Amino acid sequence: MAWFKKTRKPMAAPAKDKASRVPEGLWVKCPGCSNIIYNKDLATNLSVCPKCAHHFRIGAADRLRMIFDDTWTEYDKDLVSTDPLNFTDTKPYKARLKAGIENTGVKDAVIVAAGAIDGIETVVAAMEYAFIGGSMGVVVGEKIARGIERAIDARMPVVIVCCSGGARMMEGALSLMQMAKICGALARLDRAGLPYIAVLTDPTTGGVTASFAMLGDLNIAEPKALIGFAGPRVIEQTIRQTLPEGFQTSEFLLDKGMIDLISDRREMKAVIAQALRFMGATAKMTQPAEQPAASETAEPPALAADAVATPLPTRA
Ligand SMILES: [Zn+2]
Repeated sequence: MAWFKKTRKPMAAPAKDKASRVPEGLWVKCPGCSNIIYNKDLATNLSVCPKCAHHFRIGAADRLRMIFDDTWTEYDKDLVSTDPLNFTDTKPYKARLKAGIENTGVKDAVIVAAGAIDGIETVVAAMEYAFIGGSMGVVVGEKIARGIERAIDARMPVVIVCCSGGARMMEGALSLMQMAKICGALARLDRAGLPYIAVLTDPTTGGVTASFAMLGDLNIAEPKALIGFAGPRVIEQTIRQTLPEGFQTSEFLLDKGMIDLISDRREMKAVIAQALRFMGATAKMTQPAEQPAASETAEPPALAADAVATPLPTRA
């Protein structure tokens, strides 16, 4: 018999079913001010910290809920990537797609839909960061381009909410081609005299910044969003200079004239609606009672190019 044999029972591990009485995920710590916020309070505040106005990332569906008046019609819901390069990095691209679809409930990193923003019928594309970093592959490009074409046919303005890590490397050069495809569609939208508003949220980087995110008639950003092309480390190594304070934030870019406006998420819908009205959009389509004749004419009613000259309403 061994002299030092342990006879006492080791301390029992806490039973799995006897977990803490505080349920998981009820509270969240704000990365901005370190305050603990009740999840429901955060949700009612559009995922903006009530104490320091830190903007939490939100999904594409939440974004549409925030922008549209009520319901919306989603376009090209079932487009999925075919993995054209049969690509594998640390894991197969097909497995990444499958996981993305399971985790987010969408089939690629964007939702394109039409609905009313304060009565103005608009096509909105909202990017989903939780789906492979909101990266832009063939499906994202195709969905956005088709959405813009639909907007041109129905004479509706376009809003794209950008939230992306850039082009999707698993689709190689095909993902880069989406930049040109979307920009081409936006040029046609412009020639049709229809407005496009880009909403830049945290993060907007890479090929998305280098294409449609910066092409809005108005580029609106959320506060303190990371907006850039390459990451700061790569830039520092390339130009061999220390980058200034606040580099690649919304505030820095506003200061340098790269974006037009910074808007709090809680005011975003009102700002977009006001901007669309300023650019000539009207709410005719959803208010046929006010304009009974307009709804029967063949002329699409959403926008009038000559209305651009209306004076800008002042905003507090
Ligand atoms: Zn906070």
